[in-house]
Amino acid sequence: MDSKQFREAAVASIEHIVKYYDTIEERGVASTVEPGYLRKLLPAEAPQEGEAWADIQKDIEAKILPGITHWQSPNFTAWFPSSSSYPAMLGEMYSTAFTGAAFNWICSPAVTELETIVLDWLAKAFGLPTCFLSTGPTNGGGVIHGTASEAIATVLVAARDKYLREATAHLAGDEEAREDAMALRRGRLVALGSAGSHSATKKGAQIAGVRYRSVPVHAADGYKMTGASLRRTIVELRAKGLEPFFLTATLGTTDTCAVDDMDSIADVLAELGRASSPGFGEKTDGAGDIWVHVDAAYAGVSLVCPEYQHLARGLSRFHSFNTNLHKWLLVNFDCSLLYVRDRAPLVDALSVTLPILRNSHTDSGLVTDYRDWQIPFGRRFRSLKVWFVVRTYGIEGLRAHIRRHVGFAETFAGLLRGRPDLFEIVAGPRFALTVFKLKGSEGATLEQQNELTKKMYETILAEGKIFLSSTVVGGLYAVRHNPATPFVEEHHVRKHFGIFVEAAEKVLPK
Ligand code: PLP
Repeated sequence: MDSKQFREAAVASIEHIVKYYDTIEERGVASTVEPGYLRKLLPAEAPQEGEAWADIQKDIEAKILPGITHWQSPNFTAWFPSSSSYPAMLGEMYSTAFTGAAFNWICSPAVTELETIVLDWLAKAFGLPTCFLSTGPTNGGGVIHGTASEAIATVLVAARDKYLREATAHLAGDEEAREDAMALRRGRLVALGSAGSHSATKKGAQIAGVRYRSVPVHAADGYKMTGASLRRTIVELRAKGLEPFFLTATLGTTDTCAVDDMDSIADVLAELGRASSPGFGEKTDGAGDIWVHVDAAYAGVSLVCPEYQHLARGLSRFHSFNTNLHKWLLVNFDCSLLYVRDRAPLVDALSVTLPILRNSHTDSGLVTDYRDWQIPFGRRFRSLKVWFVVRTYGIEGLRAHIRRHVGFAETFAGLLRGRPDLFEIVAGPRFALTVFKLKGSEGATLEQQNELTKKMYETILAEGKIFLSSTVVGGLYAVRHNPATPFVEEHHVRKHFGIFVEAAEKVLPK
C-alpha cells in the first residue's frame, strides 16, 4: 500500500467507523455467533497474492462485525465499560505512525517525557498525594501499563523482591548465602487480597510464585475489607509460619464497587509491621512491611471530580495505586496508569543492563527508562491518546462525563426503589454501578430467590435488547447495571428499567 492508497483507504475506514458509531444503537448489542463461526467464513490458507483494500474492508462488515459485541452501545451495561473516544482513536493512529519499541528515553525522548508529564497532570487532577508525582518528595512517579492485571503483577514482583532483600540484608556481601536464604524465605510468602478483590492479584501471586490468601468481607460492612478482618488474617497466617508481604486494597471492587476501609487497613499494618515480623529489625516504615497496592481499576478515575477526592487523601500511607483510563475515562483500550511512591523497588526488581542498552543519558541518571518499570521490554506510545483526550475534553469535560453516569445510576436506583414489590438493591448505586436482585417472595429459600433472579437475567440476555452481567455476593445471586458507556442517555436507562420490569413480571410467581 503506497501513501496515495493509504489516504484513500484511511478515508474509507474513517467513514465506516463514524457510520458504525452513529448507528451503533441499531445493532443488537451482543454478538450471537456460535463458537468457531469465523473459521467457516475465512479461507483455510493465507492469500498468496495481496488483495485490494476495498475487498478487505468489505469483510469487516460481513465477517468481523457479526462477532463483535458492541461495548460502546448505550445498551451495554455489563462488567465495567471499556470506553472510547475519537481523540483517543487519533492518538492510537499517531502512536502507530511513529511506531517504535521505546524501551529507553533515548529510543524516542517524547514517548517517555510526554508519559511522565500526563501522568503528573492526572495525579494532580485526581488529587493524589504528592508522593505519586515524578517531582514529589519520595522518588515516586507514574507509568502507563496495558492493564491493571499487568500493573498489579509488576508491583507484586517488586514487593516480593523488596521484602526478600530486606529480610536477608544481614547476609549482604555473601551473595550465594543470601540467594539461598531468599529462596527458602520465598516459600513462606503470601500475597493478600480480599474476597472482593479482582482475580488480578491471585494471578499476580501465581506469576510471582507465592501463595495467595483472601481476607473475608461481610455484607454488614458493605462488602469492604476492614482493618479488623485484615488483622485476623495476618495473625492467623503468621501463626502458621507464613509471611504476608503484599496486599491489594480495592477502591471500587468489581462486584459491588465497594471501597475498602483504607484508614483502618493502614492503622493495622502500621501496628503489625516490621517489629513483629520475624527476621526484621526495628519498624522503619509507617505502612509496615506489607506493600499495599490500591487497585482502583474502574472507580479511580472518579477522583477527577472533587466530590470523590476525599478517597485519595489517605493513599500516601500506601505504596502504589492503579486506575484504568480505558475503563471509564474515554481512553481506548489499553491504558492503565500505575503510580508508585518510590520507583526504586520497581527498578531494583526489573532492571536489565545489557551492554547494548548502555547510553550516556541512562548513565547520567537524568532520564527515566520505563523499561525498568514494567515486565515487557518495548513499549507503546500510549501517552499520546491520553494527552489528546485530556486536552480535547479538559478536566471539566472529564468531570462532566463521570457525573452524567453517576446521575444515570442514581436515576436507575430510584426507579428500582419505586418498585419494592419487584426489586431489592444489594449494593449501590456507587460509581454508577447498581447491584440488585428480585424481591424474594414470602418464605422463599435463598436458592429459590437466586434461581428467580438468574431466570430474569437469562430472559433479558436471551432477548438481546441490553447486555448485562451477573454476580454472586454474600451468597446472593444479583445482576449488575452499569450505565457508563459514552453515548448512554437518561432515556436509555429508563428503557433498561422497563426491560427489567417486564422480565421480572414474567418470572416472578403470580
Ligand atoms: N481490578 C478491578 C477492580 C477490576 O474491576 C478489573 C476488571 O474489571 C481489573 C482489576 C482487571 O482489569 P484489566 O483488564 O485492566 O487487567
